[in-house]
Amino acid sequence: MNVKSPMAVAKVVVLGTGGTIAGTGTDQKALTYQAAQLGVDEVVEQVTSAAADLAGIPVESLQVAQIDSKDMDWSVWQDLARALQAELAREEVGAIVITHGTDTLEETAFLLDRLLDVSKPIVLTAAMRPATSDEADGPRNLHDALRVAHAAARQGQAGVVVVMAGKVWPGRSVRKVQSCQIDAFDGGGCAPLGLITDSGAITDTKDWPTPGGGGWACLMADQPPRVEIVTSHAGADGWVVDALLAQPLAGELKGLVVAGTGHGTIHRGLVRALLAAEERGVRIWRSTRVAYGGVDFREGDRWPAAGTLTPAQVRVALMLDLMGIPSAGIRA
Ligand code: ASP
Repeated sequence: MNVKSPMAVAKVVVLGTGGTIAGTGTDQKALTYQAAQLGVDEVVEQVTSAAADLAGIPVESLQVAQIDSKDMDWSVWQDLARALQAELAREEVGAIVITHGTDTLEETAFLLDRLLDVSKPIVLTAAMRPATSDEADGPRNLHDALRVAHAAARQGQAGVVVVMAGKVWPGRSVRKVQSCQIDAFDGGGCAPLGLITDSGAITDTKDWPTPGGGGWACLMADQPPRVEIVTSHAGADGWVVDALLAQPLAGELKGLVVAGTGHGTIHRGLVRALLAAEERGVRIWRSTRVAYGGVDFREGDRWPAAGTLTPAQVRVALMLDLMGIPSAGIRA
C-alpha cells in the first residue's frame, strides 16, 4: 500500500481495479490502447501531485485487481469486497474511491449498492480515454471523485455513487449509455446527485440513496448461482434456451434474464423455450433492451419485471435473489 499522507483524519483510500483510467497506448487519439496498465499508485500520484486543492486530503491507494472490466468476474468482486471490508473498518478512513473500467461499472456499482450496509461513502470512477491520450479524462474524474468522497465523508453521507464527466450518479441505477463519448453515463432516468464544476466546486447536490442493507457474506460463496441473459429479437425462436437446457450441466442454470422488446415483451418462440426452462426450475425475470422506461409488472404478466434496471444489473439482482437477498425494484 502506498501511503500518500500521514494525516490521521478522514483518509480517502483509492482501490484500483484497472480499466481505461489505468490504460496506456501509443495512439494519442486513443483509438487503440490497453486498459489496466498503470498501477493505482501511479494513477493517484499523477492527480494528487498536480492538484493543490487535494493537498489537505490524505489519500492512500491499494491495488485490488488489474483488469479490463469487460473481464469482471465473481472472484474480482470477492477481492473487492474483502478490501472494502478491511478499509471501511479502519476508523481513520472516511471514504473509499474505486477506479474501475467503464464496461461493467454499472454491475459493480449495483452490486455494492445492494450489499453495502455502511456509514461511509463509496465513490466509483473511471475514464473513457487512456492515461496517455491527449484527451485523457481519468485525471479529472479521479480528482472529482476524491473531492466528492472527501466532502461526503465530512458531511456524513453514506452510499455508493459514480463520478464521471462532472456528474455524480446513484450507484443503483447508473449505466453506460455511450460507447465512445467521454460523457458516457447516465442515471437511468434519475437526475445526477450533484454536479462538479471545472473549478472543482460540487453543486446541485441531492441526498444519496440509502445503501441496500447488507448481505456481504453471500460474496464469499465459491460460485454464485448461474444466471444468463437472453435477448428477444426478430426470429428469437428459443433455440439458445433449448441449447442451454440440452447441455450436460443444464441443472446448474438457475436463472434467465430476458432482455425483452419494448415493455418487456418476448417473442412467442422464446416464450415457449422459457416455459420449458421454468418447468425445469429456472427462474425467469424480464427486463428490456430499450434504453429508457424500464418494465413494470402488469396484471396477467407471467414473469417478474425488473423496473428500470439494465439487463446486466438484473442478472446481478437475480443472482443475489437466488442467494436470499431480495432486490427492491423487482415487481411481480
Ligand atoms: N474496456 C475498458 C474497461 O471497462 C473500458 C473503459 O474502462 O472505459 O475496463
